[in-house]
Amino acid sequence: MKVILAQPRGFCAGVVRAVEIVERALAKYGAPVYVRHEIVHNGYVVESLKAKGAHFVENLSEVPRGARAIFSAHGVAKSVEEEAATLGLPVIDATCPLVAKVHNQGERYVGEGRSVVLIGHAGHPEVEGTMGRIPGPVYLVQSEADVARLDLSDDTPLAYVTQTTLSVDDTKSVIAALKRRFTDIVGPETKDICYATQNRQSAVRALSRLVDLILVVGAKNSSNSNRLREIGAEAGVPSYLIADRSELDLNLVRDARTIGLTAGASAPEILVHEVIEALRQLGPLDVTLLPGVEEDVEFRLPSELLDA
Ligand code: SF4
Repeated sequence: MKVILAQPRGFCAGVVRAVEIVERALAKYGAPVYVRHEIVHNGYVVESLKAKGAHFVENLSEVPRGARAIFSAHGVAKSVEEEAATLGLPVIDATCPLVAKVHNQGERYVGEGRSVVLIGHAGHPEVEGTMGRIPGPVYLVQSEADVARLDLSDDTPLAYVTQTTLSVDDTKSVIAALKRRFTDIVGPETKDICYATQNRQSAVRALSRLVDLILVVGAKNSSNSNRLREIGAEAGVPSYLIADRSELDLNLVRDARTIGLTAGASAPEILVHEVIEALRQLGPLDVTLLPGVEEDVEFRLPSELLDA
């Protein structure tokens, strides 16, 4: 059996930064620190940080007075920031800088007198955070059909922004539908789309031409991991999302000659290695790497943690 590893795969710079923020906060301030929502959508990462003394909460009301609160990589609504201030909680913000950039774009467009259309998935924490950051009307669309249903006149001054875990390819048709319908609409340049999302998706597309089955290591609630699986399936390759080796059904992969293996942006490399080890139970494995983009993006840590 052959296994071809996608490149790039796994942790992006925003996830590396968020995890490091929790680790450094623990080192500097001691346990416990309180993280609002899963710092990134991965059970393994969350459990490892819990073992080091991080507590994960969904509401700031669960954080004891005076304790340090960390906002997750997905970002938060303005109301959450205000709640932290009211509760007197010192906050460390692990919002990915690329998510923060989308917030800034939205605020800028509203300042220019435009209503904002957000292309994204309802209910995702990043989408809730972005909608709660933009100080004006925000319309959430997920598809071309949603664009047709928008209850707005066609000459409304509009701007669009996108959820970061959607790639240029994902948003292309929705943006085209927006531009077809609305006469006064602007949006960010496509180079503003998250590099990590785009690179991981391009790598899966390349992988899908070479393999007869794709495994994506990632959590069920990880938007970008789900999208990687969908891209494999759309290319006609049976594709499965597994959290870790415990979810690998060897009977499902037994007959594959070449397996493509990748991981979502919040899945650590150790889980990929464990899946490879599990596959070795079926016999000798030839593991190779599909050449792809080598990423060197790094995001600056909050200054209060630079000395931790
Ligand atoms: S996928 Fe992109 S936007 Fe999301 S955390 Fe990673 S770098 Fe940031």
